[in-house]
Amino acid sequence: MSKTILVTGGLGYIGSHTVVELQAAGYDVVVIDNLNNSSQEVKTRIEEISGQSFELTVADVNDNAALEELFAKYNFEGVIHFAAHKAVGESVDYPVMYYQNNVSGLISLLGVMEKHAVSNLIFSSSCTVYGETKNPPVTEQTPIQKAESPYGTSKILCEEIITDYAKHKDFKSILLRYFNPVGAHPSSKIGELPLGVPNNLVPYITQTAAGIREQLTVFGDDYNTEDGTCIRDYIHVLDLAKAHVKALSYCDKMAERVDVFNVGTGNGNTVLEVIRAFETVNNLKLNYKIGPRRGGDIEKIFAETTKVNDVLGWTAQYDIKDMMQHAWAWQQGLGE
Ligand code: UDP
Repeated sequence: MSKTILVTGGLGYIGSHTVVELQAAGYDVVVIDNLNNSSQEVKTRIEEISGQSFELTVADVNDNAALEELFAKYNFEGVIHFAAHKAVGESVDYPVMYYQNNVSGLISLLGVMEKHAVSNLIFSSSCTVYGETKNPPVTEQTPIQKAESPYGTSKILCEEIITDYAKHKDFKSILLRYFNPVGAHPSSKIGELPLGVPNNLVPYITQTAAGIREQLTVFGDDYNTEDGTCIRDYIHVLDLAKAHVKALSYCDKMAERVDVFNVGTGNGNTVLEVIRAFETVNNLKLNYKIGPRRGGDIEKIFAETTKVNDVLGWTAQYDIKDMMQHAWAWQQGLGE
């Protein structure tokens, strides 16, 4: 009998790619998603890619009755918890919304998991927990910093709650600290759906290339890096999705109650390198200018990936050119 996994936020950017990979790996999937940053159409797209259907409940993870109904109906093998708000800037304006959705959402989920004795959780964390680091790459032992934003705080709090809960209950969890997920499914059927003006670099690049935005501003070229622009570890969303499938099977057999993994490629790219890769692989010129620094930006961060490579047996397959090619193909298909 195949195992059933609950995916919260399974129609979102990372969630949708993960559902595809879970189905490919033979899992049955049930999704709960409030469509806050997604649409029903994504379900159809996922099913087109995988050739398999899945049940969707349109509800919030804070909706206890909806969770109860699902946990009563299915004997879940594990839960992958994506449902959360993710915009750093927005979190500064709406901190309570972030605590409520991200922290209360987790607590509500844990309550139902406890009641139904479901004991495996894969949690979406972020490299934002490392804050400003002096010497990248960061390892999983790099100390966590006080967060600069309610978003970052919510991720640190969730990590702490999970770790504490697992001390007291028969519970196992893997915390995945994502670096910068970009790109889209190679089929161009699913990808990122940014609401309004994107904050993130890659959607801004693709929207500029598509003529939706006039010009990209590179936020600062006076950092202490090769070309003066900031360095990030960009990871293809499908690689990131595959890491969740690996984490799920490891969660079952690991000796520790809670383990944490960086999920990145291990390579840092500057903003200008990303732009060049986009221009080269897609054979076009991007309209961009150098502007002032953006407040709160970290100069340089990328992952040490030895642990995730060795323990989970996972390595990123796609490079920055693949990411830029798939991101552009996805953008071009939007609105069709
Ligand atoms: N960035 C930029 N112009 C933009 C958006 C982002 O130059 O319009 C830069 C940003 O300063 C950072 C990098 O791109 O150095 C990645 O930013 P993003 O917001 O995508 O991710 P994060 O800062 O959360 O790592």
